[in-house]
Amino acid sequence: LDRLQAGFRKTSERLGDNLTGLFNRAALDEQTLDEIEEALIASDLGPATAGRIRVRLAGETFPLGLTETAVREIVAEEIEKILAPVAQPLEIDAFPRPQVILIVGVNGSGKTTTIAKLGHLFLEQDYGVLLAAGDTFRAAAIGQLKVWADRIGVPIISGPEGGDSSAIVFDGVKKATAEGIDTLIVDTAGRLQNKKDLMDELAKIRRVLGRLNPAAPHDVVLVLDATTGQNALSQIEVFKEVAGVTGLIMTKLDGTARGGVLVAAAERYGLPIHAIGIGEGMNDLRPFDPRVTARAIAG
Ligand code: GDP
Repeated sequence: LDRLQAGFRKTSERLGDNLTGLFNRAALDEQTLDEIEEALIASDLGPATAGRIRVRLAGETFPLGLTETAVREIVAEEIEKILAPVAQPLEIDAFPRPQVILIVGVNGSGKTTTIAKLGHLFLEQDYGVLLAAGDTFRAAAIGQLKVWADRIGVPIISGPEGGDSSAIVFDGVKKATAEGIDTLIVDTAGRLQNKKDLMDELAKIRRVLGRLNPAAPHDVVLVLDATTGQNALSQIEVFKEVAGVTGLIMTKLDGTARGGVLVAAAERYGLPIHAIGIGEGMNDLRPFDPRVTARAIAG
């Protein structure tokens, strides 16, 4: 919990910096409200969230003046209202097994690390886990996932660089079914440079999966790098279209000042947020707690 708060410190500090000078004004007039709204937008929270907080502030009376504590409290409450409906842990509940979880996102967003963290989390919950190295485009991605599979102690299905990712997914489902493994977590290519290729590749994976189990993939989780700020939002847009995203995991929330984008994403897309990444280790995936997160962001 402390690490989570520490992770959001730069985000809440930036919010504080942006709001400085607005506290303790005598009157909450239109100009002050405008400035607060701008400060919230500059903190990556998004225009809709900022507008919502503005309306809330305008409706409040501040008997002690516009104190920093009072403003931060209202910001926290409004953020929590936005985050609460989307907080949804990734549950293993598919029947028949395996539950197939596709992990999508641009290269460098933290996909491989997130797969390892999720695998580790499910193992701790006593589920059987199999990984599939479906990003066959990059040899490094296959190698890195193998290293993680070893480290967390789970089997992995992989093929050669440049191989057919849908064949690997096919083998993965076969193996998981034969061995009664609960979940198959699939890495996928993150080449957004060529949207059409990526779309075709994901479509092929879906076709192959669908033949084995019409309900698969059960989850399509988009991994987002919080440090990219507003870029994360355009990635949601694109991946919703090419991959049929069912939920989000935001990574690298440790030490970025751009953590506000988590709120903007929740507000704009309403997609489930399964967890957040706050470090590079296998234990650094946290369940997404709206109250704690809202308070960490608001400071
Ligand atoms: P991929 O290309 O999407 O598979 O990304 P990787 O999983 O290889 O991650 C890219 C880099 O980000 C690596 O150096 C990871 O250690 C790092 N990384 C991943 N998740 C986090 C996180 O939550 N916090 C921090 N600080 N670094 C992370």
